[in-house]
Amino acid sequence: MSAVAAADEIVFSRPFRAPGEFANLVEVLRSDHAHGDGGFTRRATARLRAVTGARDALLTTSCTHALELAGLLLGLRAGDEVVLPSFTFPSAATAVVARGATPVFADLDPATGNADPASVAESLTPRTRAVVVMHYGGVPVDLGAVGALCGPQGIALVEDNAHGLGGSAGDRMLGSAGVLATQSFHDTKNVHCGEGGALLVNDPALVRRAEIIREKGTNRARFLRGEVHRYTWLDEGSSYLPSELNAAVLDAQLAAFDTIQGLRHRVWNVYAAGLAAWARDTGVRLMSEQPGLEHTAHLFWLLLPDAGRREAMLRHLHDRGVRAAFHYVPLDTSPAGERFGRRIRPLSATAEFASRLVRLPLWPGLAPAQIERVLEAVTSFDPWSTAADRPRVQARATISR
Ligand SMILES: *Cc1c(COP(=O)(O)O)cnc(C)c1O
Repeated sequence: MSAVAAADEIVFSRPFRAPGEFANLVEVLRSDHAHGDGGFTRRATARLRAVTGARDALLTTSCTHALELAGLLLGLRAGDEVVLPSFTFPSAATAVVARGATPVFADLDPATGNADPASVAESLTPRTRAVVVMHYGGVPVDLGAVGALCGPQGIALVEDNAHGLGGSAGDRMLGSAGVLATQSFHDTKNVHCGEGGALLVNDPALVRRAEIIREKGTNRARFLRGEVHRYTWLDEGSSYLPSELNAAVLDAQLAAFDTIQGLRHRVWNVYAAGLAAWARDTGVRLMSEQPGLEHTAHLFWLLLPDAGRREAMLRHLHDRGVRAAFHYVPLDTSPAGERFGRRIRPLSATAEFASRLVRLPLWPGLAPAQIERVLEAVTSFDPWSTAADRPRVQARATISR
């Protein structure tokens, strides 16, 4: 049992409420238009294009649905293969399996948790139709290396940009590099509307068909713009558009984007500075700034020396009222991954990273005193306290900050 009263617990994630959300919701509820593709959808979409630099954007009901829409749009079918990291959210794989195609799992780069371009390269075959990358924690994947594997071979690069909203690599904004990119606006993401998502479309040749698939296979989007007199069934499709209620919240969130990001980076920077000495002394590895890359402060991670010490640290934090977490059971060794997917070889970097990872609470409303408590809880943990295998270099280390 935790020694800390429930009210004093520092939760792992808490949604930010943007100033305009209530007024926007009232406006929708007082109007006669709560279904999709109204004024708030148009406004939120324009803001999203500005934040991502994407050519076109379509709001969806989730990132999962945006990935499914992408699978339909790319015409994936049985026999096709899609290379994606094993260390990611399952939706990138279920969208492939939904088309009857095969996910092929790539290993990760332990410096970032992102797909390792060398492993992606190894996983390509003549049947590879797409590569889906994810910018873990909003740290950009090596877009130059992965892009060079895709474009010249006619392989579609898709960015699952659920973590990467507002991130950049040099002058390249995340979400604008792939033929397609997907966003999530789930409550746990930097910008959220309960449940929501978007498909970013950077190839102009794909926009018209993306609109049709999103609207039950019809040209209703063109009808709403007054471009055709009636709408009709033209293609495959489903219903992927969110209601104006979701778009109204999303519009207010995107209007507050700079505020949200400022608050998140504040927490991230205090963690990075406050844990540096402890990490050096204990040999724990911290998520770090990468030269030339702008991350999004979506999360802050630590890598413990091994899985046992990861469990010990989570217990230690929990006892001090700090709710830390880990995630991504590797897809390649999950029951569905073994059933539907394949991999070139055992993905040892992925297995290690996933078993040693701890994520700290990171949300805009964390008060300075709470951030301080997280630092105290972390730095009072000595991963080597009961260990005979403490590395020699650690022997004289004092655990302090
Ligand atoms: C959250 C997340 C998803 C799923 O998003 P939903 O909007 O909940 O469908 C997909 N991919 C990544 C990388 C995510 O973090």
